[in-house]
Amino acid sequence: MTTLEKGGAGLPQERKLVTEIPGPKSQELESRRKASVAGGVGVSLPAYIVAAGGGILKDIDGNQIIDLGSGIAVTTVGNSNERVVERATEQLGAFTHTCFMVNPYEGYVEVAEALNRLTPGSFEKRSALFNSGAEAVENAIKIARAHTKRNAVVAFDHAYHGRTNLTMALTAKAHPYKAGFGPLAGEVYRAPMSYPYRDNLTYGTKVSGEDAAKRVMTMIDKQIGAENVAAILIEPIQGEGGFIVPAEGFLPALVEYANKNGIVFISDEVQAGFGRTGKMFASEWEGIEPDLVTTAKGIAGGLPLSAVTGRAEIMDAVGAGGLGGTYGGNPTAVAAALGAIEAYENDGLVERASAIGETIVDRMTKIQSAHPEIGDIRGRGAMQAVELVDAETSEPKPELAKAVADYAAKNGVLVLVTGTFGNVLRFLPPLSISDELLADAFDVLEAAFDEAAK
Ligand SMILES: *Cc1c(COP(=O)(O)O)cnc(C)c1O
Repeated sequence: MTTLEKGGAGLPQERKLVTEIPGPKSQELESRRKASVAGGVGVSLPAYIVAAGGGILKDIDGNQIIDLGSGIAVTTVGNSNERVVERATEQLGAFTHTCFMVNPYEGYVEVAEALNRLTPGSFEKRSALFNSGAEAVENAIKIARAHTKRNAVVAFDHAYHGRTNLTMALTAKAHPYKAGFGPLAGEVYRAPMSYPYRDNLTYGTKVSGEDAAKRVMTMIDKQIGAENVAAILIEPIQGEGGFIVPAEGFLPALVEYANKNGIVFISDEVQAGFGRTGKMFASEWEGIEPDLVTTAKGIAGGLPLSAVTGRAEIMDAVGAGGLGGTYGGNPTAVAAALGAIEAYENDGLVERASAIGETIVDRMTKIQSAHPEIGDIRGRGAMQAVELVDAETSEPKPELAKAVADYAAKNGVLVLVTGTFGNVLRFLPPLSISDELLADAFDVLEAAFDEAAK
């Protein structure tokens, strides 16, 4: 506790290198971590944080790092956002827990009302609250199965839905998420994703959204039988898979197919939701109205909370006691969510996401002109990424992604590597980042690409 400092928007907004990164105090903590924390819990950048806010992470050695990760798209409203801290603090002093399933409280109901109002679709909705994104996805599948009385679930290539037993089965990537952890949950089927950049490399043409959707429908009709499918589960923009934005028309065609066949369409907005893409929910980009939406990450400014929201008649297919959990919709987490939602709706954050996105695309396009290894720049709003490849063969180049991220980290910029092939740099700054910090971060990234090319 004694190492903590005051964070939030008041933290000086400048990149500052006091020691190497990680510095001596972080390195000491790193040895303690290795002797105490299970090795399965990986760490991207072992700089131990004592305060954060705006666009800055301050570490225990006094270094100030520019945050292009937001704790994986979580602190979208900014670390220790004032509205979040105020509401959560008030709640902590009132009561910390009752279990909503034992004695309810207003905050939970208010978050449900807000989710029902904000998620796409003007139909009657209900929400249920949980702790993590994985838990929300698991519950969405339970709800879809209870409603349809069917078993099969369709997920996609490059998908990421979590690390619990069912969600790791729904996740595409074997290493590190699934290998060695079997048996995996059954009745999960994998469909081909619309991946415009790689479709173009493979077929010499960007497969249209409609054609990519046809591949999926044929797979379902021939390999599963539509009448056996409870749910189609998809991220409207894939997160861990590499910020893959499907071709236009892909999502609407799948929604239409799901509706026609009595299949519950679930949009996993855990990473793309809550203002991140320049709309409140990424599904809005193509005007789709999912039957169920799962949310988490950006929902509560950093406190653990997740939700399933959707059509009342589907949500209410589960009888009382079938959904819930001891901590789901914890009072402090829902108070924080109300603060965060207030920030999204009143502080111009959704528009800010679009402006940040334009800056990122602009900067990366300039860097690309000198570095043809940047094969693709893609994303929406403040959810942008670049895919790095061999300039001649277009083969994935994960070592370049790592070299750039390592150089950036040493120079005080946190950028996360992702993607099925480990060759994608993703940019997820908090929407509270200043234009100056953003410009500084991309100066460092430009230098990182120049350095790596030497
Ligand atoms: C992170 C993520 C999850 C899992 O969320 P956790 O809170 O880590 O369990 C599920 N779906 C998507 C799209 C995610 O990005």
